[in-house]
Amino acid sequence: MPATPQNPHRVVIVGAGFGGLEATYRLKGAPVQITLVDRRNHHLFQPLLYQVATASLATSDIAWPIRYLMHDRREVTTLFATVSGVDAAGHRVMLEDGASLPYDTLVLATGVRHAYFGHDEWETYAPGLKTLEDATTIRRRILVAFERAERETDPERRAARLTFVIVGGGPTGVELAGTITEMARHTLPGDFRNIDTRKARVVLIEAGPRVLAGFADDLSAYAKESLERIGVEVVLGEAVTDCTREGVVYGGKTLKAKTIIWAAGVRASPAGEWLGAPLDRAGRIQVEPDLTVPGHPDIFAIGDTITINAWDGKPVPGIAPAAKQEGRYVANLIKARLRGETLGPFRYNHAGSLAQIGKRLAVIDFGRIKLKGAIAWWIWGIAHIYFLIGLRHRLAVALSWLWIYIRDQRAARLITQGSSKVTS
Ligand SMILES: Cc1cc2nc3c(=O)[nH]c(=O)nc-3n(C[C@H](O)[C@H](O)[C@H](O)COP(=O)(O)OP(=O)(O)OC[C@H]3O[C@@H](n4cnc5c(N)ncnc54)[C@H](O)[C@@H]3O)c2cc1C
Repeated sequence: MPATPQNPHRVVIVGAGFGGLEATYRLKGAPVQITLVDRRNHHLFQPLLYQVATASLATSDIAWPIRYLMHDRREVTTLFATVSGVDAAGHRVMLEDGASLPYDTLVLATGVRHAYFGHDEWETYAPGLKTLEDATTIRRRILVAFERAERETDPERRAARLTFVIVGGGPTGVELAGTITEMARHTLPGDFRNIDTRKARVVLIEAGPRVLAGFADDLSAYAKESLERIGVEVVLGEAVTDCTREGVVYGGKTLKAKTIIWAAGVRASPAGEWLGAPLDRAGRIQVEPDLTVPGHPDIFAIGDTITINAWDGKPVPGIAPAAKQEGRYVANLIKARLRGETLGPFRYNHAGSLAQIGKRLAVIDFGRIKLKGAIAWWIWGIAHIYFLIGLRHRLAVALSWLWIYIRDQRAARLITQGSSKVTS
């Protein structure tokens, strides 16, 4: 049935992350009625999540209420709900609370979660970083470790309190390792009386042969050297084989550490399982060239929860610009279909890869142009401020960074989610 203002086409978008939000924005003006469903009430700028985990930014600096982002879009209904399945035959999205939503077109943009390679029990000791709660949990663990060390008299136990292990040498692992080291060396020393926080050990363990494996070799090498120069111990070619209350095991030896952070692997959301779709080993849906789910021309899937070779035959990376480009493509295809037209297959354009290592230290891989050091760091900072939504957030983040740059002070050093009770 053709869409008209009286009979709008019903689009349900599941997930208001980078992909889902972009699709919603790009459908503006189309004859559609959109229901945007997310189990969180906020859109999260995940690239700066590690800055919340390391007390550099506040939670509200990198998140926006979805309802507010959509407040002037009368055709968009925002639902705070968890999707638990899809009844493709009945064209309905099933919600966890038993309700269901009818759709004409469905867009699944549900992202990924942590993966512990079959060892989910490690999560208790090695939390991953994906949500605001994860970030404040990690922040709490880091800050509590220094507090406990301040009161610890046994040298071995104190050393374990002051040892921070990050598992995984991708951008998140590198950024966490660099920032925790700078916090220990430059932000905290004056605040403690019994410990020298500069002696804290930050150990980055990567199973592969280099950190930042998605970057060019010379930038990876630069990142490793820079990390070591600022005081991070980088361990390459060693897979972590156990995480416990006492520390991590790798290469047959145990490293005693009270704080372990997992930045090593992800698994797609169960969206593909809802539809019995073909999946890769990480559970990502192997979508068609037009980003529809095989066998379901009215269901699109985008962002981290899919895999597609649309980058000169290579897999599209799981990064925010890719999710946004896919969201934009799907919105354009929905609009084209409503006009009785179609579009060619999705093609991904890679603008570049960026990672921060520490203050005035970053790497940028634009393909032919590669940048490192202070210039890359300034571009990294400006790009991230630019991609935040709204002036207030841009100003708040810029001011926090200026403060860190000038004074080495991180204002969000707050231990929340509990009192000082010793639990470990
Ligand atoms: C710590 C970290 C650092 C990163 N750094 C960078 C970086 O520097 N640069 C970069 O480009 N990319 C970075 N990324 C990757 C980038 O954030 C992702 O590629 C991007 O968020 C993917 O967008 P998405 O829309 O697929 O998923 P997401 O943005 O993850 O959004 C998924 C949404 O779906 C919702 N959802 C999931 N399941 C359900 C359900 N069952 N019901 C309802 N709602 C649901 C979630 O609440 C979430 O809001 C980083 C990611 C992380 C975790």
